Amino acid sequence: MELRQTKIVATLGPATDSDHEMQRIIEKGLNVVRVNLSHGKHDDHRKRIALVRKHAALLNKPVGILADLQGPKIRISRFKDGKINLQEGKEFKLDVDMDESAGTKKRVGVTYKNLPRDAKLGDILVVDDGNIVLKVTEVLDPVITTEVLVGGELSDSKGINRQGGGLTAESLTPKDHQDIRFAGEIDVDYMAVSFVRNAVDVNIARELLLATGCEGGIVSKIERVEAVENFDEIVEASDGVMIARGDLAVEIGDAQLPGVQKRLIKAARNRNRFVITATQMMTSMVTSTTPTRAEVLDVANAVLDGTDSIMLSQESAIGKHPAKVVAAVNRICRGSESTDRTMDRVERADDQFSGTEEAVGMAAMYTARHYDITAILSLTESGSTAKWLSQSLSGIPIYALTSHASTQRRVTMFRGVHPVDFEMNEDSDIAIEHQAVSEFLDRGIIKKGDILIVTRGEVTGIKGGTNTMKIITV
Ligand code: PEP
Repeated sequence: MELRQTKIVATLGPATDSDHEMQRIIEKGLNVVRVNLSHGKHDDHRKRIALVRKHAALLNKPVGILADLQGPKIRISRFKDGKINLQEGKEFKLDVDMDESAGTKKRVGVTYKNLPRDAKLGDILVVDDGNIVLKVTEVLDPVITTEVLVGGELSDSKGINRQGGGLTAESLTPKDHQDIRFAGEIDVDYMAVSFVRNAVDVNIARELLLATGCEGGIVSKIERVEAVENFDEIVEASDGVMIARGDLAVEIGDAQLPGVQKRLIKAARNRNRFVITATQMMTSMVTSTTPTRAEVLDVANAVLDGTDSIMLSQESAIGKHPAKVVAAVNRICRGSESTDRTMDRVERADDQFSGTEEAVGMAAMYTARHYDITAILSLTESGSTAKWLSQSLSGIPIYALTSHASTQRRVTMFRGVHPVDFEMNEDSDIAIEHQAVSEFLDRGIIKKGDILIVTRGEVTGIKGGTNTMKIITV
């Protein structure tokens, strides 16, 4: 069994659409796929999910599914000729009433009709993730006049952010509502919500997904200044967060990003929520077969900071070598995990435990750190004890034993947790432990003499029922 702790999330796209490539990325260590609902049609996504499920079943490996909503990304409309060239110092107008495909080198339409009401004189508008920078010199609804501060080529439908944040677009658009119904239909394990501002945005998304009958977890994408400011309430309302560095860096400024990334990873883990670190992790591998040294260090630093997973975007969706990228991330994560630089402990030493699962989880991890424990076996219904166990970055493998396929897929997001399909054939506590130990011996995961911790509920089949920890010598 593969023992990398950090998880790999890969965005699906044309580059992963063949049987061959899908099989290879799963074999090379993929844990979760991301379906990016900003691009493509529902039918395309349905086919992609079917391909993932087929190969996950063939390879007998649980693969989680994360659907990522587009959210209210504000974009310029299209140009008559597909693209223009902007020159520094020249005037350029954004006109929200303009025809959607009539853009010229003087003006272009914008998808967000309220932009002239939000924009103020002197605002800096950052287009195409910072490639173009505009300064607002006049606002006369429906037109915003700007001066080009950083020029260059600008093509259709590029995103716009305001430096410092504060554009007020609602978090869930009519398209998102349709996409949530789709996410429910394909029964996703997680749904990512873009441009959340506060806990209310997260709660609304969760209620809408639950209304479809899907119990997938909610991942809040941190990409707005407001989300950084309201991080505590957002984390509390979410199952996990994504540090969406593409838009986030534009809003807060790239120089702030390293500090914010480290702070958010620590704060999320401290509340037992998982963290995905995303965007431009291995961009050069869209074309290259090896990462740059800077990319190696970037992935490694996220691992050392304590991220649960590393996310691939274009590298896997439209890149030339998706399987090589997954293999490279796998290699870098394992190398970084094996260094002796230990992460800050995040056990909540000063807080009351939230319940028996946290109490047992923390007791188990404290013991694991101070005793010669080879592995932790967590018999789990919902995976939540496994999540508590993963909070403590001990490096000791945590096996989540469950017969529920949905739980096996859900724990694919948790650092250090490995799902194991386990059907309890026995009734008594002792017999169930014997069954687990003998199956692990048969699979070669443990050997005679190993010392294990087993966590379980005395009454099996109850979610949140873990109340027991036991130390066993095999
Ligand atoms: C990001 O901005 O970093 C991100 C992950 O969002 P998206 O790719 O959906 O724009």
